[in-house]
Amino acid sequence: MPQVYLDNQATTPLDPDVFSAMKPWFTEKFGNASSRNHTFGWEAEEAVEIARESVAATIGSLPKEIIFTSGATEANNIALQGVAKNYQKQGKHIITLNTEHKAVMDVCQHLSKDGFDITYLPVDKEGILDLNKFEDAMREDTILASVMHVNNEIGIIQPIEEIGEICKKKNIIFHVDAAQSVGKLPIKVDELGIDLLSVSAHKFYGPKGVGALYFRRKNPRVQLKPIMFGGGHERGIRSGTLPVPNIVGLGKACDINADVMIEENLRISQLRDALLQGIRAENPNGRINGSMEQRVAGNLNMSFPGANNEAIIAAVPEIAISSGSACTTSTMEPSHVLLALGMSKNEVYSSLRFGIGRFNTAEDINIAVESINSCMKKIGKMSYV
Ligand SMILES: *Cc1c(COP(=O)(O)O)cnc(C)c1O
Repeated sequence: MPQVYLDNQATTPLDPDVFSAMKPWFTEKFGNASSRNHTFGWEAEEAVEIARESVAATIGSLPKEIIFTSGATEANNIALQGVAKNYQKQGKHIITLNTEHKAVMDVCQHLSKDGFDITYLPVDKEGILDLNKFEDAMREDTILASVMHVNNEIGIIQPIEEIGEICKKKNIIFHVDAAQSVGKLPIKVDELGIDLLSVSAHKFYGPKGVGALYFRRKNPRVQLKPIMFGGGHERGIRSGTLPVPNIVGLGKACDINADVMIEENLRISQLRDALLQGIRAENPNGRINGSMEQRVAGNLNMSFPGANNEAIIAAVPEIAISSGSACTTSTMEPSHVLLALGMSKNEVYSSLRFGIGRFNTAEDINIAVESINSCMKKIGKMSYV
C-alpha cells in the first residue's frame, strides 16, 4: 500500500511543472552561468536572472537584493555570521527565540564561542513572541535580531511586522528565517521591515539543495562579510558555480506559487480541519500544540496524553508523519520547540506533527484519520491523563 505523505514541513514533493522547467538545464542547456564567451553561458545566465526576478517578486524585493544559496541553512549562516563579522565593532549582542530552527540556533551557539552574547527569548504557551519582552531585550550593543516567520514544528506565525517595527525604531538589523512561510504566506519585505530573509525551495515544491538570501540594499544598506571564498559569485557573498537547474526550479516554484497560493491555502486548511475533526471525534483529549489562530494552513501538531509518539508512528506505517522536526528526530532529543511551550517531557513524547500540502487529497485525510483512530484504540484503552 502506498504511503500517504503527511510530512510536508520536512520537505515537499517536487511539483511536476517545476521538474519540467528544470529538465533542459540538466541536458542540452548545460552552460556555466559565469561563462562570458558563448551562448551556452549567456542563456544560463539569463535563466538565472529570470529566476532571480521570480524570487524577488515573491517577497517584494529588487532582484539585485537576492543571492542564491544551497538552501535556508546556508542562507541563515551567511546572514548571521556575515552580519556578526561585519558589525562586531558596533556590538556583539544578538537576539533570537528559543523556538528557532537548528539552522539558526546552532549558528548562534557557534557565534557565542566567538564572544557574541546571544539572548534566546522565550515564547508564550501558544508559541508566540511577547513584543514587550522583545523590546526589553534590546541593548546598546545589540546588532541583530533573528526571528523565524513560521515555525517548522507547530506552524505558528510570529508577529513579524511588529517585530520589524521595533527593530527599525532601535536601528537593529532584522533577519527572518522564512523557510516555512515563503509560498504559504504573502511576504513584502518593506512592509514587514525585514532586512535579511532566508528561503528554501524544497519547502514549497521546488528542488532540494537550493534557496536564497535576500539582503536589503537601501534604508538601511545591510553589509555582509562573506563566510566562504572562491570566484566571487553572487556579489562576492556566495562563491561557487551556480546550480542552474536548481535555480530555474526555485524560480518556477515561485511563479506557480503566485498563481495558486490563495486558493491552495483555502483547500489545505479545509483538509487540515477535516483531519483535526476526524481525530478529535474519537480522541477528545487530543490537544493542539501552539496557537490555532496564528498558524499556517498545512500544519497540525497534537499531543495524545498517555500515548507514545514513536509507538503511534510505528503502528501506522501507511501514513508518513513525524514526531517533530526532521533534524531533531534523528537525535531523539525531546523537541525544544514543544518544551518551550511549557509542555512536560511526557507530553512532548506524545506529540505528532501532521504536514498537509499541495498534493494531498480528501482521501489521504480519510486514511490518516482511520489509521490514527484505530491505532489509538489499540494502543489505548489509553489512560488519558
Ligand atoms: C527546512 C528549514 C530550514 C533548512 O532549510 P534547508 O533548505 O533544508 O537548508 C531552516 N529553517 C526552517 C524553519 C526550516 O523549516
